[in-house]
Amino acid sequence: MIENAICECPRCGQGAVLPARVKKNGRTIYLCNECDAVWFSVGSIEYATFNFFNYYMERLGLPDLWSELEVLSASDHSADSTG
Ligand SMILES: [Zn+2]
Repeated sequence: MIENAICECPRCGQGAVLPARVKKNGRTIYLCNECDAVWFSVGSIEYATFNFFNYYMERLGLPDLWSELEVLSASDHSADSTG
């Protein structure tokens, strides 16, 4: 498990869900490093509610690249956590 991971990915069961900030809009998202499933809050991270990273980025007019993101440490995202 990666140090700053929120949890194991509930979609693929292999990746780790990492907090990341979209550089373009400053929004924090939670992204699996294996299957690119995305969530928008810690409290919503479950299989039934995942979004696709590429669709999310497409809607923003951005390429679906990790280079568009700033991966956060666990302490950086704690203020945004809803528990
Ligand atoms: Zn995954």
